[in-house]
Amino acid sequence: MKYISTRGRMEPVGFQDAVMTGLAPDGGLLLPEKLPQVGDRLEEWAQLSYQELAFEIISLFATDIPPADLAELITDSYATFDHAEVAPSVEVGDFQILELFHGPTLAFKDVALQFLGNLFEYILEQRGGKLNILGATSGDTGSAAIHGVRGKPNINIFIMHPAGRTSPLQEKQMTSVLDDNVFNLAVDGTFDDCQNIMKTTFGDVGFKTAHSLGSVNSVNWARVLAQTVYYFYAAFRTMEKTGTKSVQFSVPTGNFGDILAGYLAQRMGLPISKLILATNENDILSRFFNSGTYGMADVVPTLSPSMDIQVASNFERYLYYKVGEDAEKLAAMMDNFNENGSLSVPLNENGAVDDLFVAGRGDTAATLATIKKYHDQYGYVLDPHTAVGVYVAEQFKSEEAPTICLATAHPAKFTQAIIDAIGEAVHHPTLDALANAETRCDSIANDVDAVKEYLVGHIM
Ligand SMILES: *Cc1c(COP(=O)(O)O)cnc(C)c1O
Repeated sequence: MKYISTRGRMEPVGFQDAVMTGLAPDGGLLLPEKLPQVGDRLEEWAQLSYQELAFEIISLFATDIPPADLAELITDSYATFDHAEVAPSVEVGDFQILELFHGPTLAFKDVALQFLGNLFEYILEQRGGKLNILGATSGDTGSAAIHGVRGKPNINIFIMHPAGRTSPLQEKQMTSVLDDNVFNLAVDGTFDDCQNIMKTTFGDVGFKTAHSLGSVNSVNWARVLAQTVYYFYAAFRTMEKTGTKSVQFSVPTGNFGDILAGYLAQRMGLPISKLILATNENDILSRFFNSGTYGMADVVPTLSPSMDIQVASNFERYLYYKVGEDAEKLAAMMDNFNENGSLSVPLNENGAVDDLFVAGRGDTAATLATIKKYHDQYGYVLDPHTAVGVYVAEQFKSEEAPTICLATAHPAKFTQAIIDAIGEAVHHPTLDALANAETRCDSIANDVDAVKEYLVGHIM
């Protein structure tokens, strides 16, 4: 399997190169040259465990990794999860709640980042060389990335967070990881400052190459790929339970990485009748699917911070398919978007952008009310991200196709929102254990040169 760029100006590369490259050199995102069609294997796949299924799916894409090695990578990646099924579904009211928070940081990003960390280390072992990951986080992604690569001999990770502006719990999830290859940097500035430092550092190509800098951002193909697995797994479990021939998924969306994985699963032949895209007040994507226009707006902070985005980094992959896999056309659209901050696609005869997608938004009041409702009626506590997805899903129920709502984080991670909604906190032993944990973190000035100097001094 070869990988191409959505913008078409890159020679096709293999899976390992696609994983190490991240972003394509022409500014586009990587996609497989051709999506495998798996419709005739679904019956057989429905019998598999999560890990066996992951192996079947990923091996179609990772053709340059020997099968025995891939199987081991997958087993190791999901051994850190605290549920035998990895991603179990629970029936709550009219919905199947797909719990994606059984990994080490209690958020769905672990599903991809536990795998990506092992994959990076494997490729480095094969090829020789080191990788120094630099990232900026406002909370969630940083901790999942740190837990994905902690203790790996050929990888160092440097994660910047805005000093004093990350929730104390999220900060502890990062700074309590004491492995020698993990460096937490508290930057005297905002999240935007951290991101600017990162962009400037990566923009210095000489520095980046000399120090083997890399990132783990959500455009990495291996992350999307690892996420397709739970769409298949959950659809099989739900169809078994309900006897239906198709399902719909509701996905709380930020950077469009998670829902993109569902879209690809559908294109590969999984019977998904609808993808329900749910956003909070930062609704660039729900506006797009309802109007055809994708236009930037300012970010507002909400109770679901991992969905507070302005531009969805994985959206370009969807657009590529939307324009009929025409890289020239897509490149022109993206150039236009970068100039004008907006792009449009025509609506179809049903007045929709895409008949597979429906979209809606849930604001702060809806988030709190939904958490309270599911707690009061069913004794189940949704985290604020999941609550947005459930709220929007309520507007799109179907008789023929049961709805699976992706639960992207454990509620114990969002103490204040949960207290505001139901009057009491929810606990999780992993988080409770952090209270007295030892931590390590270095303070650093809001300055690119200071960060570069730190990197050079600490790269081993
Ligand atoms: C990252 C994240 C999301 C959004 O996922 P995308 O792939 O960015 O759309 C939703 N919920 C939680 C808890 C997250 O951490």
